[in-house]
Amino acid sequence: MSKGKSIMVDTSRCSACRGCQVACKQWNGLPGTKTKQIGTYQNPQDLSDNTWKLVRFAEGVKENGKPYWYFFSEQCRHCVEPPCVSSMEGFTKTGAVQDKQTGAVVFKSDSKKAPFDEVRAACPYNIPRQDPKSKVLFKCTMCIDRITNNKIPACVQSCPTGAMAFGDRDVILEMVMKRVEVLKKTYPKAMALNPEDVRVIYIVTDDPKKYHENAAA
Ligand code: SF4
Ligand code: SF4
Repeated sequence: MSKGKSIMVDTSRCSACRGCQVACKQWNGLPGTKTKQIGTYQNPQDLSDNTWKLVRFAEGVKENGKPYWYFFSEQCRHCVEPPCVSSMEGFTKTGAVQDKQTGAVVFKSDSKKAPFDEVRAACPYNIPRQDPKSKVLFKCTMCIDRITNNKIPACVQSCPTGAMAFGDRDVILEMVMKRVEVLKKTYPKAMALNPEDVRVIYIVTDDPKKYHENAAA
């Protein structure tokens, strides 16, 4: 496989506008989710078969007593060696494919033949979701239909703060490392999350567990 593509998600620049969340639904024709107010800004509560991108909101108090409010624009990480694809082997050969040029991991309709619980458990980031009626599994596609037509993913296109970037993997990796070095001057805990293992590379400025329990593998 070529080195493929990658996405940077710099959480230090995210304003939680949810533009990416909405753009994902618009481009992929995904319906809205009925939600209810539970006392936080988290809306909807979780990823689902028709919510593939979700801005997670995390509130807490740091060791120094200061409150924090962290945003984590979650999606499939498009693992370099995807365990979800391996977990479907033996059940279906076509339920999940890894695009040779880009490295994008895409679920297909035959994913309904794979045991959902096993596929979900195989994912280090708890990403796959299942349509309860059709049993087909869904998640972010890296906008494979856009990126193979020389367009950038819809979520990246929509981001108004520059928190997201898309490009060749080596270029994005270099961008990520440079940004982490800059952030470390202000935030000593700044880091990239599993950059060697995933194509969607998050940058955080604090312990990843403070953002979301599955932020890092
Ligand atoms: S993050 Fe999960 S669903 Fe996405 S490619 Fe990796 S294992 Fe598969
Ligand atoms: S890359 Fe495309 S499918 Fe994936 S989260 Fe972004 S908009 Fe949604």
